[in-house]
Amino acid sequence: MRLSNKIISIKPPPLRSFAEKAANTPGCVRLDLGEPDFDTPRHIKKYANDALKRNFTHYTSTYGVPDLRDAVAEKESKKVSGLSRNNVIITTGGMGALFCASASIIDYGEEIIIENPSWAPYSYMVEIAGGKPVFSKLFEDDKLQAENILKKINDKTRALIINTPQNPTGRVWSRSDIKTVAEIAEDHDLFIICDEVYERIVYGRRHVSFAEYDHDLSNTMLINSFSKTYAMTGWRVGYIVADEDYIKAIMKVNRVTTSCPSSLAQMGALAALKGSQGSVRKMVSQYKKRCNFITNELTNMGLNMTKPDGAFYAFPDVSDYDNNSMRFSNNLIENAKVSCIPGVGFGSEGEGHIRFSYATSIDEIEKGMERLKRFLPNYPDPINI
Ligand code: PMP
Repeated sequence: MRLSNKIISIKPPPLRSFAEKAANTPGCVRLDLGEPDFDTPRHIKKYANDALKRNFTHYTSTYGVPDLRDAVAEKESKKVSGLSRNNVIITTGGMGALFCASASIIDYGEEIIIENPSWAPYSYMVEIAGGKPVFSKLFEDDKLQAENILKKINDKTRALIINTPQNPTGRVWSRSDIKTVAEIAEDHDLFIICDEVYERIVYGRRHVSFAEYDHDLSNTMLINSFSKTYAMTGWRVGYIVADEDYIKAIMKVNRVTTSCPSSLAQMGALAALKGSQGSVRKMVSQYKKRCNFITNELTNMGLNMTKPDGAFYAFPDVSDYDNNSMRFSNNLIENAKVSCIPGVGFGSEGEGHIRFSYATSIDEIEKGMERLKRFLPNYPDPINI
């Protein structure tokens, strides 16, 4: 008996092992977790709870609950006009959306270009779908390197996965960068799988969608999720917006992997879109304060970093102390009891960096930064806590 080489070759991402290490370190300041510290807003929980009382507990359509598809189409119509529920499929989280989208366009051995550094699961999804992830450094000194993309395109290339706002850098793509890459994709007949799960978590910058440059959605698939915007990570609801024919194809993957997302969670998602957006605004204003705080602290410590314009991550360069981010992160957790994720976990171009998540209380962030300040001067010696 043997397992597939595809599965054997996938190593657990450092994210998980660092989360476990942090959980097993008493008194650790947790700056590793990429999930909101807020609870799901009350009106969302109530609506799902009412649905449970009404016994809304059966399979839904594989495309998702029609009212929710309509609500998504209405929301996304701000980016591209004329959408209907036929352009929408509800999935099990953004993760499910990304997998369904990738699996529906890749044939064995075909290539998908992925930003280096970027969120680790993209490459695993592409591999499990039978494709080959091809990594490309898309930005140098905050400037888009379009020629790096062009160099990676060949006759096996099928798509680019773009994430804006980005995990781990917090970069929000500018309108002109989006236009440049949208044109490259169109010229070379490539799909853009655009991961917009952090679209509402932006600080003074407007999120621009690739859909704004592809009015008939001929090659754009928008990926989104309720996890981050509405603090609904455990509910597992996401969606894809795409051309109607692509949605029909994607449905085949959704059907064989999950049948449909949870009926009750879809009700929660419906309440999220239809209800007041006040709680989203409140959460984002908290993230913004934390973002300003952590950025100031890290830059005052002399660490280089791009100021995040969105998402809830800071990605400082720690290579003056250690160019091995795995070793740095292990030392930080063991000797200063602060957890982070080593940058190399996001790709080779992330080496020399670490990712801090500021989706935690300002008190915890303050405590973490205080420890880091004392830790760095005598790196890697332990500090008194
Ligand atoms: N995309 C990115 C960039 C993410 O960071 C995450 C979650 N960490 C996801 C997608 C998936 O989120 P979910 O499956 O919870 O919707």
